[in-house]
Amino acid sequence: MPGGVNSPVRAFRAVGGHPRFVRRGKGSRIWDEDGKEYVDYLASWGPLILGHAHPDVVKAVGEAAADGTSFGAPTAMETRLARLVADAFPSMELIRMVSSGTEAAMSALRVARGFTGRDRIVKFEGCYHGHSDGLLVKAGSGALTFGVPDSAGVPAAYADLTLALPYNDASAVEEAFRKQGEEIAAVIVEPVAANCGVIPPAPGFLQTLRREVSAAGALLIFDEVITGFRVSLGGAQELYGIQADLTCLGKILGGGLPVAAYGGRRDIMERVAPLGDVYQAGTLAGNPLAMAAGVATLEALRSPDAYRILEERSAQLEGELRAAGEEAGVPVTLNRVGSIFCSYFTDGPVTDFVSAKRADADRYAGYFHAMLKEGVNLAPSQFEAGFVSLAHTAEDVAFTGAAARRAFAAL
Ligand code: PLP
Repeated sequence: MPGGVNSPVRAFRAVGGHPRFVRRGKGSRIWDEDGKEYVDYLASWGPLILGHAHPDVVKAVGEAAADGTSFGAPTAMETRLARLVADAFPSMELIRMVSSGTEAAMSALRVARGFTGRDRIVKFEGCYHGHSDGLLVKAGSGALTFGVPDSAGVPAAYADLTLALPYNDASAVEEAFRKQGEEIAAVIVEPVAANCGVIPPAPGFLQTLRREVSAAGALLIFDEVITGFRVSLGGAQELYGIQADLTCLGKILGGGLPVAAYGGRRDIMERVAPLGDVYQAGTLAGNPLAMAAGVATLEALRSPDAYRILEERSAQLEGELRAAGEEAGVPVTLNRVGSIFCSYFTDGPVTDFVSAKRADADRYAGYFHAMLKEGVNLAPSQFEAGFVSLAHTAEDVAFTGAAARRAFAAL
């Protein structure tokens, strides 16, 4: 395996050293192959909002497996999951299940292009939407610079169709639409930017997107692969009161199994095959095990207390980490939206990709390794989010705070 891993950031390149091989997880904890125990805030990069090996999920997957692992035909379970999604996200009138967030975002863009008959898309610097060609693009220095591919192997012609703008910069969006609005098929955005740490949307930013996109006859795509079922049951759309035309979901949707989805307005989604002329398919799409895990997860999240408990626990963690930084005199900016958090090693506010990049990644690496030694598993990069789950207890959080005090002091 290149770098010994099946996904690059697992390889610890950003923090140095070697990744732990994980043997098992239960609740808020994981154990590595050497038997060391960690309180885990990686949560498989977001999906495990119920914690590891939640009994309902394990039971649902076991029962589904006993009935057969895949049929390549419709099942009642996928309909159940689709209904749960539509209940939480009223803007998703039709839904297509896929197997990864990459597929969801790639497919949503194809639908947007098919529907509008336009080719150009707008994304934001620091937002990640999976590794499809046109989305592996970051901004050049100017707001209206055409995209430069982030990866070898991405044809320049694809990247040229992607305009990358600074996140939270409403005037850059207005200017882009003034100059090129008629060519833009869609704006795709993480409504909370959670792939360069955690950056909440500035007041009015998402509203500007909604207004500009609608005025230009383009489509607004919310990539809620992280925020969906995370910042509230109905994702960022519920939290901020804005409806997207198309939405991408993943991570929590599959409860730790490979599931993602895209969906949205009926008239747009009716363009998807077999109803319409936009082709998209998948051998394992709607896989019964994955659907069962998703249903078990979303049903648990519908409990009236779920998001209150998550918020309480996450606020407690924020308090612990802030206090630890202050006591040690280490400049840390803590950004948090619900149960997603990031400790940036910088004293300025972090509001976009440029300010995020001011954070001292080497210092973060020192902190990361000190925390790992203490038995706390964080993301192995300054520019990734941490996730609190319903399995984290007040004791876990207090343990984390004590570990952070020692880790900061060592810095
Ligand atoms: N969109 C967002 C917001 C993500 O955070 C990710 C992955 O982290 C993706 C899309 C891609 O999802 P996947 O890794 O399942 O392909």
